[in-house]
Amino acid sequence: MKHIVIIGNSAAGLSAAEAVRSQDNEVRISLIAEEPEPAYRRYLIGEVLSGKLKEKEIAFKSPEFYKSARIEWLKGQKAEKINGNRNQVVLSDKTRIEYDTLIIATGRFESIPNEVKGSKKHGISGFRSLAQVRDIQQLIPITNTVCVFGDGLPSLSAVQAFRRKGLEVKLISAGSRFLPWIDPIIAKTMLDRCRDEGVEVIFDQKLSEVFGNGDVKAVKISGGKVIGCGIVILDNTATAEVGLVSETEISTEGGGIRVTSSLCTDRQNVFAAGDVISTGFSGWERAIIQGRIAGENALAVCRGGELKSCPNIPQKLRLEFFGSPVILLGDSSGESSEQETLCKAGEGWYRKLVLQNNTLAGFAAVGNLNGWEQAWEMILSGAFIEPDAQRKLLQSV
Ligand SMILES: Cc1cc2nc3c(=O)[nH]c(=O)nc-3n(C[C@H](O)[C@H](O)[C@H](O)COP(=O)(O)OP(=O)(O)OC[C@H]3O[C@@H](n4cnc5c(N)ncnc54)[C@H](O)[C@@H]3O)c2cc1C
Repeated sequence: MKHIVIIGNSAAGLSAAEAVRSQDNEVRISLIAEEPEPAYRRYLIGEVLSGKLKEKEIAFKSPEFYKSARIEWLKGQKAEKINGNRNQVVLSDKTRIEYDTLIIATGRFESIPNEVKGSKKHGISGFRSLAQVRDIQQLIPITNTVCVFGDGLPSLSAVQAFRRKGLEVKLISAGSRFLPWIDPIIAKTMLDRCRDEGVEVIFDQKLSEVFGNGDVKAVKISGGKVIGCGIVILDNTATAEVGLVSETEISTEGGGIRVTSSLCTDRQNVFAAGDVISTGFSGWERAIIQGRIAGENALAVCRGGELKSCPNIPQKLRLEFFGSPVILLGDSSGESSEQETLCKAGEGWYRKLVLQNNTLAGFAAVGNLNGWEQAWEMILSGAFIEPDAQRKLLQSV
């Protein structure tokens, strides 16, 4: 019986497993999962920290799912090494698992920078897992202030959760612009929301030292200022979790695992999907689609079938920031010289259309998202957009 092994039990890994099982009842599927709990919606961990949702309410799959789909769920096991010549994965307990095809879906992780003095103290954490949230929860009753370094999605989620818990929050960005990956007007609106909610935003600063006797008591930032705090969230050091391939002939590119359009790595029987192939966040939905294609292609290799190409999936990011809804669809930067941007703003709302060759390339909005579903369909279809439709999208508030 052919054996498909998947490393990573989240959006990409699980959708790969589901895709394989939906097409083949016989093939053996093993899922190596460092985290012991069933897969959960990672983007909702902030809601668990703030107390708005319980852990079980963010479950992506139930424990029964693995059994019913006949997925051998190797929970709490870390894949430590891939031996591509022998088609083997070595686990942390030194068990060797042989595969016919392998899917790497290990996502991203934050490394605590060694060069920062005191960086091993308790209270420094990433913001990516339920285990980290549980650990942080223990510190909240004995902490007044939190420093959050970075301006990615985990930082935004952490900042809101800590404010909801009543903690003083400093959001520290290495750059001079808030959320440089977002449309500047939307970023400015979000910065204003942050400040309205009492978050202090500090620009052009990095973490340079952590003080405390075992536990974090204060941090020094690059300008020399010392800030008293009991929790430090690091989001600016997150990189794709590519360590597993470092001693293999599987190469990386721009920080993520290099893959072809069919998500195949340099080895014909090894695929990769999700955040691990990305320079930044692939996003939850993209990881799911990529996982599905990687699963189908891993199965195709087992059966000697044709590989599918992964579609170029536009960005779809929808979030709530201190009560303001935000959406970014497609290429909403509008920075290319071939693109034209149309913007409209009103009391508490702003929206932007990015047009390219008379099609909708991107859509961004804050405050009021009416019409985003139509915009999304237009981006996906690449259909000609009439001036009337443009007007409606700009005005559907
Ligand atoms: C706080 C937060 C908020 C977010 N908000 C949004 C949002 O609003 N919208 C959006 O689209 N995206 C959001 N994201 C990003 C989104 O969650 C990710 O893009 C998505 O989870 C990527 O899925 P993945 O399966 O590639 O990787 P991950 O979800 O990172 O999962 C990788 C899995 O692999 C496991 N793993 C890693 N290495 C090993 C190993 N060696 N052995 C065994 N297991 C291993 C990890 O433990 C983890 O379970 C957010 C992320 C965070 C953390």
